[in-house]
Amino acid sequence: MGSVNNSKLIVLLLVLISCSKQNIGTAELSVTLGDYFADKDVDYHKTKKRAIWPTPSIYPSNKIVLTFDDGPGPYTNKLLDIFAEYNKDRPEGQKAFATFFVLGENLSKYPEVAKRIIEDGHILASHDWNHTNNNKENQTLFESDLAKSIVAVEEVYASLGIERKEIYFRFPYGEYGKNGGYHHLDSIKKVGDKLYGENCLNYAFWDYDTNDWVKKMTSEMIALNTFNMLPAVKEMILYDRMKKDGIWTPIKVEIDASYKHGGVSLMHDVHLRSVLATKILLDKIETHNSTSRDEDKIEVVALDTVTEYQYDERECTLVD
Ligand SMILES: [Zn+2]
Repeated sequence: MGSVNNSKLIVLLLVLISCSKQNIGTAELSVTLGDYFADKDVDYHKTKKRAIWPTPSIYPSNKIVLTFDDGPGPYTNKLLDIFAEYNKDRPEGQKAFATFFVLGENLSKYPEVAKRIIEDGHILASHDWNHTNNNKENQTLFESDLAKSIVAVEEVYASLGIERKEIYFRFPYGEYGKNGGYHHLDSIKKVGDKLYGENCLNYAFWDYDTNDWVKKMTSEMIALNTFNMLPAVKEMILYDRMKKDGIWTPIKVEIDASYKHGGVSLMHDVHLRSVLATKILLDKIETHNSTSRDEDKIEVVALDTVTEYQYDERECTLVD
């Protein structure tokens, strides 16, 4: 995808400046601009270039992209049930589809769940083979695990007779580019070239962390951390985290309207609290939309409908 145009860039920087005043959530936003898809002409190792985190085309907006990491796990089926119930009888275009960034090593443990993710209309994507921080892996291991995880995702699609060109990747912990020996974005280009004969691996970050990984967060708190981030929502409460006696603990904070932005949210389907939070969230969205003017309606959009995640002319079929 091309670089961000100037007007979007100004909006984005204003948002980042306003966000930086309030240290809420992980929000470790990198303001160094980069493109989606690793730029094939850039030597990242040389430039140390870091990619942008927020998704400019929907930041800020009342659009939300739901993403779930680290599965499939024991609660993923329950989450799929929740989406199926929400989508039942809902017209096309108003259904909610999520993206599941799965660990390659979990796919063989939950093969039927992995297939169901796709069959139910959601997106299956790679969160690497395991959850090791890639900055701690050497280049050979990073590249072989990355390739293995991509092929594992492709195999699930293939088992259903589906050829899909959009295969997304998310770094565990969002960590990359800090290993002195190489740069992960150079490796992404290299692995994409090897598997597809072209630059086909698009990486995905998130616009806000719901803090659902904090054990003491309740489902209600996680739902509010997602819902209240949308500009159309008037509630100004979020649950940030702070360490108390060495344990991450939720802390209620008040935000102002400038902090809200929507975009890609991060949750984890390996936690039951997060799965139950999704039910609360979808119910809140439904109630909100039933009483809102069109311009204030919340849209749950699929990742592959977002500009930054579209593949356009790329072919991206696996090389035999
Ligand atoms: Zn993860």
